[in-house]
Formats: sequence, structure tokens, C-alpha cells
Amino acid sequence: MSVRIQPIQFTTDCKDQNFDGIILITQNYEQLPNELECLKAPLQDYSAVDCCIKDEVVVLRVPGLPGNRLVCSCTGPVNRDYDDVRRFRDAAANGIKRALKAGLQRPLLVCPPNSSYAKNTLVAVLGALHVLYVPLEVREHKSSPHKVATLGIWVKNKEQGDGIIELANALESGRFVYRDIGGSDPERMAAPRVAEYVQSVFKDSPVKVTVVSNLNTLEKEYPCLAAVNRCANAVPRHQARVIKLQYCGEGPIEQTLMLVGKGITYDTGGADIKAGGIMAGMHGDKCGSAAVAGFFQILAKLKPKHLKVVGAMAMVRNSVGSDCYVADELVVSRAGRRIRVGNTDAEGRMVMVDLLCEMKEQALQEVSPHLFTIATLTGHAIRAMGPKYSIIMDNGAARRAGNDLEWQKAGEVLGDLFEVSTIRREDYEFHKGKSEYEDILQANNLPSSATPRGHQTPAAFLIMASGLDQHGVDSAKPQPYSHIDIAGSSGPFPGVPTGAPILAMAAKYLKL
Ligand SMILES: [Zn+2]
Repeated sequence: MSVRIQPIQFTTDCKDQNFDGIILITQNYEQLPNELECLKAPLQDYSAVDCCIKDEVVVLRVPGLPGNRLVCSCTGPVNRDYDDVRRFRDAAANGIKRALKAGLQRPLLVCPPNSSYAKNTLVAVLGALHVLYVPLEVREHKSSPHKVATLGIWVKNKEQGDGIIELANALESGRFVYRDIGGSDPERMAAPRVAEYVQSVFKDSPVKVTVVSNLNTLEKEYPCLAAVNRCANAVPRHQARVIKLQYCGEGPIEQTLMLVGKGITYDTGGADIKAGGIMAGMHGDKCGSAAVAGFFQILAKLKPKHLKVVGAMAMVRNSVGSDCYVADELVVSRAGRRIRVGNTDAEGRMVMVDLLCEMKEQALQEVSPHLFTIATLTGHAIRAMGPKYSIIMDNGAARRAGNDLEWQKAGEVLGDLFEVSTIRREDYEFHKGKSEYEDILQANNLPSSATPRGHQTPAAFLIMASGLDQHGVDSAKPQPYSHIDIAGSSGPFPGVPTGAPILAMAAKYLKL
């Protein structure tokens, strides 16, 4: 499996006849840079007969331009209190959709720089590339892997062009891997096939991949994950895999990121079955692990120095059947905590917690480590913040370092947005054992969306059941840890996964 993203190229000439139409993305066509002066008059002309030009995508015939065509997609205002760089992404997505309908095969995207947004052109390119992605199952079914022959990008000079091509290729290839894993159906991306895919993507790359498939090892090392896998394990093609990845940049390591991703290949809910039609869409419950793989793909492309990244993808199917784990079972976590299962649909925290514990053990040997869990964890995340925003929750050490706000800020650069949420004492209280039998209660018996603080309490569970509570700010060795809930932001259903939060991660850690 090679990662073959949509081919892209830049030009400094907006009349470059190598292309067959221009897609203009702008806040205001009256204020175009000198190099684009030729686009102004036709748009002024057109606006005399159609006042919709600022709200809707229009297609004009303009002799002399590539393909004699101009597609104009205005962003609308971009500088009000509530505007952000997504205006450029959305306008580009709308523009390219219209261009595809018009039959363009070599579109030239023109998005002049905007002084308020350092990366608006790159964001527009990424918006277009998102639309141009061809899903894995479609690629495997049809012969053509691309929707257009090439996507052109207009830039002011070669230096800007080289930079934008390098970043767009790297970021898009990360999202490509993410979408392939996260968006594909539960059989095409069953755990063993995700492992195959990841091994083939990172073959001959600086990313090392190891796959744990032995049942005895899974049961011994990751008992909570093994409890969820117990039912699926009876079906060989659904058996769990833990996929470990490692990237070590050149030069002395200054920082180590340790990422655990939730990879539920399908979530039936288990014995607490998702009834009444709410199971559909649960093939997307592997987007946390898809984010881990996608971020490594960006690392493989950009090869940042001084950075080490360790990743673990917890690929498990939460099946229902005679051998499924059930509420009331007691499971002892890797950290030696007795956990009472409360709801089998709270499987995401179960498959991640022992991997988080293992990372915590390893972190003691790493330079400046920061632990993360990334997961489509709770319906409550969507209830609380809506369907478009990731949520970051820091533990004490991470929060004192200002991590959550830095992530939020980094996310704004490329339009991969975050809400900051806080883990409170009630969240720890909530997960304390309720009887002598257990140390920790995994979950209450209600869906998270019907539970107060339903997206925050799982972060406390992960900290308690992994033993990270021994590494708080009051300890000798505090360990920064952040939990990221992407249940809302990872993508629409039905639809193509977004790639959240890997653009924010790239902006934060790769100094774009
Ligand atoms: Zn679930």
C-alpha cells in the first residue's frame, strides 16, 4: 500500500496554460494583488448582473485564462470576532466541488495571502485536497486513484511554492492514512488488516512498526484490552492487534511524545448493545488510532529533528456474543488496580488504559516525555462542544506547563480547532470503587451523553486505572499527560473522516 495522494504542483503564473481553469478563493476580489489584476475586471463585470457573487460559487467564461474558466468562491468576511482560518478551507472546498461539476481536470487554486492568517493559502489547499480524497474502498474498486489529473497552486514565488508543496504533501499524506484507516468499513479495516496496512505504509520509512498479535501476550500485558477482545477473538479475522510505532529524529532528542490511540474497529456496544439504530457509524470508532498512524506519516515525510515519538494503536473489535465481557466483571489492570466494569460500551478507555500504563513505565527513561490518549471516546464530547471541535484535557503537570492553551493556539493556525476542558475532583470521585470489591468503577450504567461531565470523567478513569495518579504534581516524578476526545471532530457520519487532530499536532510540534 503506497500513499498516493492527489498530485499537486505550483505555478507563479495565473495564466499558466498547463491548467484548465482557475478557482479563486478570496475575501474580496476588489483587493487582489497586482499579479492577479487580470481577474478583477471580469468579476466586477459579472457582479453587475449577479449580486450573489459574494455568497455563492460562480463560474465565469474569461478568455485568456487557463481553460477560459474562472470559478470564484468568496470566503465572506474573515475578521469578525468569530471568524477563523476555516473560512478559506470551506471556500476552497466549495470551489473545488463546483469545479469538479464544471468538468475541470487540471484546476489551478488561487488563494492570495491574507495578512491576518499566516497559513491561509495552505489551509485552502488542504480544504481542496480533503474534497479530492478518494476513499480506500473506492480506489480498490475503480482504476483511477484520483479525481483530477493535478491540482495547481498559485504562489508569488518559487520559495513560497516549494514550502507549500512540501507541507501540503506531508500533511495530506498523514490525513490520507488517517482517512483510510478511520473511514473504511469494519471488515476492510478489521484489526489484522489495519496492522497489514500500517506495516506496508511504513515499509522503507524512518518509522519502525511492531505488531503484537499473540493472545497470551495481549492477556498478560493488556488485561483490560483483552477483556474487550474476548468475544471478537473467536473470529480470527476480528482478533485484536496492538500496533506499536516509533520515530526518532536526528540529533539529540529534546522532547518525546507518547501517543495511545483508540482503535475500536467496530463498536456494537458489547453486551450493553447500542440499540435503536445508534450503532451505525461505529466503524469510525478507530479514528484515535488513525490519528496516531496519520501523525507518524507526517513525521515520516517531514523528518523533524530532536523529536522522538512513540505510538500505540489499540485495535480491537467490541463484539457481542456468548464470550463477551459484561458489566459487573472485575478486571485487574496492568497497574494492579481492580476495575469493576459498569458498561461494556465504555470499551475505549479499557483498550487504552494498559497501553497508557506501559507508556508511563517507559516514560521514566525518555527525554521530556508527554503522554497522550487520543480517542473518539464519548458521545458527551459532541453534546458538550458540538460536532466540530476536539477537546483537550490536561493533567496537573501538563496544565501547569500551559499545554492545553498551546494546543488550542496551534490548532488555530491550520483550522483544526480545540476546546479546553478541565479534569476536576468530582471526576476522580465518580470513578472511585463503590464497594469493597473494586478500587475503580469503569463507568456508570448510562451513556456518556446522559451523564453529567460525561467527557471529563473518562480522563480521570484513565489516570487512576493506569497508575498515572502516582505521577501528579504532588509526586517526585510528575508526568505530563493529556487526554484528547475527538468524538465530534473526527468526522461526520456518513462522510469522510477529517483528520482531526493531526494538523494541530503538526502545527504544535513540527514548528510549521
Ligand atoms: Zn463504546
